[in-house]
Amino acid sequence: MSDIVLKSEVASEESRVGVLLPLPLAGAYDYKLTVPARRGLIVVAPLGPRLSLGVVWGEAAGGVAESRLKEAVPLDGEPCLPAGLCDFIDWVAQYTLTLPGMVLAMALRSRQALEPETPRLAYARAEGEPKKMTPARARVLEIASHGLARSVPQLAEEANVTPAVVRGLIDCGALAAVTLPEFDPFRPPDPDYDSPRLSTEQGLAAHLLKGAVAGKRFSASLLDGITGSGKTETYFEAVAEALAQGRQSLIMLPEIALTVQFLDRFAARFGCRPAEWHSDLSQRERRRVFRAVMSGEAKVVVGARSALFLPFQDLGLIVVDEEHEQAYKQEDGAIYHARDMAVVRARFERCPVILASATPSLESYVNATSGRYAHLMLRNRHGVAELPEIRLIDLTQDRCEHGTFLSPTLREAVSRTLEAGEQAMLFLNRRGYAPLTLCEACGHKLVCKQCSAWLVEHRYRKRLVCHHCGYETGLPESCPQCGTKGAFTACGPGVERVAEEFKLLFPEARMAIASSDTMSGPAETQTAIRAMGKREIDVLIGTQIVAKGHHFPQLTLVGVVDADLGSSDGDLRARERTFQLLHQVAGRAGRAEKPGLVLLQTRNPTDAVMQALTATDRDTFYEQERKYREASHAPPFGRLAAIILSGHDGDAVREAGRIFATTAPAARGVKVWGPTPAFYALLRGQTRERLLLQAEKAVDIQAYLRRWLSLTTAPKSVRVVVDIDPVSFF
Ligand code: ADP
Ligand code: ZN
Repeated sequence: MSDIVLKSEVASEESRVGVLLPLPLAGAYDYKLTVPARRGLIVVAPLGPRLSLGVVWGEAAGGVAESRLKEAVPLDGEPCLPAGLCDFIDWVAQYTLTLPGMVLAMALRSRQALEPETPRLAYARAEGEPKKMTPARARVLEIASHGLARSVPQLAEEANVTPAVVRGLIDCGALAAVTLPEFDPFRPPDPDYDSPRLSTEQGLAAHLLKGAVAGKRFSASLLDGITGSGKTETYFEAVAEALAQGRQSLIMLPEIALTVQFLDRFAARFGCRPAEWHSDLSQRERRRVFRAVMSGEAKVVVGARSALFLPFQDLGLIVVDEEHEQAYKQEDGAIYHARDMAVVRARFERCPVILASATPSLESYVNATSGRYAHLMLRNRHGVAELPEIRLIDLTQDRCEHGTFLSPTLREAVSRTLEAGEQAMLFLNRRGYAPLTLCEACGHKLVCKQCSAWLVEHRYRKRLVCHHCGYETGLPESCPQCGTKGAFTACGPGVERVAEEFKLLFPEARMAIASSDTMSGPAETQTAIRAMGKREIDVLIGTQIVAKGHHFPQLTLVGVVDADLGSSDGDLRARERTFQLLHQVAGRAGRAEKPGLVLLQTRNPTDAVMQALTATDRDTFYEQERKYREASHAPPFGRLAAIILSGHDGDAVREAGRIFATTAPAARGVKVWGPTPAFYALLRGQTRERLLLQAEKAVDIQAYLRRWLSLTTAPKSVRVVVDIDPVSFF
């Protein structure tokens, strides 16, 4: 399929081709082309009254009369998407049942990225001499004779003169123009800039990964190492190998882990920062990176899931770090799992893919233990650091006083840690003050008007907030149901409430809250995390955001306020997720010389998740999950897909659900469940119903779904979304 010259090109100079437009259309449209047709060639194509960007995709379908055929015109310089990317786009569209144009749209995010560069004009000292020399002119000429050429405003600013003075010097030939490229080039990372000395097990894993890169073939490896074992250092060696070959690498991180720390760490190893790709880039930066990736100049890209659709010229390696992260699943627009699609892209590029994690997804674990992926283990922490000791606090025995959430044992441990001059972290994966507010007089619960979710009190801001749609309101004076005044009571803890309790217990301790809240703002969270790193605070109280990647050498105690939270979510990955998150939180303790202690408050101390965490015997838990999934034909032993129906007209949505249930074709090895109201049956004012399709591994669920969808028409007001391999059951 790749590198094809389309047949029609041979026939004549002028050809008819199929052009895919980045729009929700069923397929490619026919156009006339007056240059040789190549798959991937980027063109501008008229569509109705406007012009659209498009990509030459394949043979024309025919059926359009010659006279009505419009002409598509290549962009200046005839930029072309690599054939491997085009094949990948087709594959993703097929697999996820997304219109191919919508997948193409992810690869053509910015029109500007494709326009020719506008060179910058800059000026340097030249032969000419001004007729009259003034001190101002002398200053400009002095500055211009050193270093790089500068723009007029730059020269004016540095010499502290008006731009007119600079222009006068240009006119008399004392300064001459040079053109600079629009963008500064990306510096090539140096594979040998600062190579670490690897431990024996790191060295062995690195050797195998380098071999995989050198082999220039598809392969998949699971780099399965405990937190702090040096997974990053290890896969950097594979990146170094790709660099040595002059090929490109893509390192994927969950958006939240894409931090300055990571880029600096890369720079410490390779001498300069990599190119970045994520949702926060400016248009200009986006354009710069896209072009440099397409030309092959950007050798390493560190990016979030959307980086998977960049037009790499010569990709030699893909790394998916924290491969178990749910953030890799894109839940709107084209619904896809970036980890799984990274493996597919690596196949199309014929390059290796490395999945790295301390707590792999069960899917990757099964692939690795069954031999489909290479399984590389790092069992030891780097240097002297030991894994922390993990103990359970049984809340049914070690009781908290009414309305409090820190047990006597946890309090004592905190106080010992503070006395020793060390740091502690309290973890609770719940933002705000309390997850539920109810009226004590009548039991009325305050819920979001648009969603079927409880409103969460944020006491610092004196607001009630819906964590699903962002709706917020003040706390009402009286109950909307019974009218009683001042009878609201907070139920359960959020981080703010734990912080309040902590302050009463330890008024002297320096404490900060870090929660992913938009209200306290990401900046405030960053400040808290930095303060912890610099030892300006003793205790950090936080949500999920503190679990990831941070390295606090003096942190010796981690207290998990509610270890049971999450396990009861009721989907097939709830326990796996709880395990992953708590393992990661625990991994924050004792990362340097001092040993760490982790205390988990739980009401189910005998549960397998709790036992796996304390015994630091992960694989017993994984084996149990594997058996459970095998017995229930759940992924990766069977296939799942969901059809989600939504709309403002609740009756129409429910009716569509019933229709879908009756039109589901009978097929061997396929079961259809539902319709059932989605977990949040009402979300952002939309009614939602779900159908779940469960199939044996051998079933082609895409073909089944296509057939089903072709047999079913939902009313216009109902949106129908297909989610292949769902991870969220909301
Ligand atoms: P992981 O990603 O497995 O949790 P990291 O790669 O973050 O572990 O490594 C943990 C710490 O140990 C980091 O500070 C890292 O720089 C350091 N480290 C790991 N391996 C080495 C090595 N071979 N030489 C020097 N420092 C190392
Ligand atoms: Zn809401």
